[in-house]
Amino acid sequence: MKFHIISLGCTKNTADSEKIANIFAQSGFTWVNNPQESDLLLINTCGFINDAKEQSLSVIMESVSLKDNLPSGKALKIAVFGCLVKRYYNEIKSQIPEIDYLFDFFNEKNLKELISLNKQNDASCFNPARFFTPPHIGILKIAEGCDNRCSYCAIPNIRGPFVSLDEKSILDNAQELAESGAKELSVVAQDITRYGTDKGKECSLPSLVKKLSKIKGIEWIRLHYMHPRGLTVKLINELYSIDKVVPYFDIPLQHVSPKLIEAMNRHTTLEHMIEILSHIRSAYPSGAIRTTFIVGFPSETPSDFNKLINFIEEYPLDRVGAFMYSPEEGTPAFNFSRKVSPKVKQSRLDRLMTLQQLIIEEQNKKLIGQTLDVIVDSVENGSAKCRTKFDAYEVDNSTTIHKCDSLKPGQIVKVKIVHADAYDFTAELIV
Ligand code: SF4
Repeated sequence: MKFHIISLGCTKNTADSEKIANIFAQSGFTWVNNPQESDLLLINTCGFINDAKEQSLSVIMESVSLKDNLPSGKALKIAVFGCLVKRYYNEIKSQIPEIDYLFDFFNEKNLKELISLNKQNDASCFNPARFFTPPHIGILKIAEGCDNRCSYCAIPNIRGPFVSLDEKSILDNAQELAESGAKELSVVAQDITRYGTDKGKECSLPSLVKKLSKIKGIEWIRLHYMHPRGLTVKLINELYSIDKVVPYFDIPLQHVSPKLIEAMNRHTTLEHMIEILSHIRSAYPSGAIRTTFIVGFPSETPSDFNKLINFIEEYPLDRVGAFMYSPEEGTPAFNFSRKVSPKVKQSRLDRLMTLQQLIIEEQNKKLIGQTLDVIVDSVENGSAKCRTKFDAYEVDNSTTIHKCDSLKPGQIVKVKIVHADAYDFTAELIV
C-alpha cells in the first residue's frame, strides 16, 4: 500500500510525522512523494492560531477532493489527526464526512487499525529514513505539552500538561537519527527548559544534552524554544559549555512591556529577560539570539508598543519573528477587553519588522570577512545552500557558496563570508 503524510505546523509535529512515517514504512507501506499517488493519505494538522487552522482546513479539503477524480479501481483512504482535530473533532467529523479516519493523536489502537489496512506484512529490509527533512538533519522531540499557560496560547489545552519523554527513548531516537545520517540535531519541545521538572527534579536538560553530545555522527546540537522563565545564567552556562551545542539562543520573549508580560502570563520580568540577554552577549559574543514577539495583544497601547521598538534598538537581536495577536477561543486572553484593531495590529507588525530588517542587516554585516563553519543543506546548479551555526533549518538565513558543486549535503565546511544582507549570506569555500 502506498502512503503519504502531509505534516503541517511546528517542528514538534514534524518529529511526530517522521516517527509515524518510519512506523508505516517498517510495516511494509511504500512512501510516495506525491499525495495523489497514495492509497492512504495522512494529514498531521496544526490548530495553534487562525492562519494555521485555515491552512490545515484547506489542505484537508484539497485532499478529500482527490477522491472525486480517482482512476477506476483505485481507492483512497484519508486519515486526519493532530492539533486541529484535538480542538475541533466534532465540527470536522460532522462537516467533512469524506475523512475515513479521524482522531486527535496517534495511539497504539489507531496505529494498529491503520497498519492493518496493508495486507503485506513487515518490510523485509527496513532502514530508518528521513521523510520531512534532509537526512543530515534530525528533529528530536524531548517532551509533550506545556504548563506555562501563556494567556494567548491554546497549546496547553491541545497538548496537555508538560511531560518529559523518557530519557532512554530520547537517546534511542537520537541514535537512530544519527545512524540514518543526522549531523545536526534540533532539540525541540514547547519549552525545553522544563525538561525533567515534571519528574520533581531540577531541569535535567544539561545531563540529557551531555549524553546526546556523545552520540557518534552528531556534530551540531541546536537547542530550540527556551522560555525565559526557565532560563538562568547557570543553566545557560551548563548547556552552552557542552561540546557540539551551537551558540544559537532560541528564546521567545513575546513582549517587553511589564504590563503585557504580566497580561500574557509569561511568569517572568523585563529585568530577568535583560539579565539573560546581557549574559549571553558578554559570555557568548559570537552567539546568535533568536526570538519572537507578539504585537496587538489586548490592551497594548502605543506606549507599550514603543517600549518594544526601543527595546529592539537598545538590545539588537539577530533573528526575529513577529506575529499579530490571534484571539483563540478557550484561552484566557480571548475574553480580555481593549482589543487592538486588525489595522493597528498590521501597522505595528510592519513597523517592527521594517526596523528589525535594518537591525539584522547590520548584525549580519558584522560577519563579513569572518571565517565560519557552515553545514551544506543542498547543492543545485553548481551552488551550495548552507547554514551557519547561527541559522536554524527552514527558519533563519541561508549561506550560498557559488561555483561549488563538489560539496555534499551534510558536509560541514569552513567558509569566508563575503556578502551579507538581512536574510542571506554569500561565502567563499576555504579549502
Ligand atoms: S510556553 Fe506559552 S506559548 Fe509556548 S507552548 Fe507553552 S503556553 Fe504556549
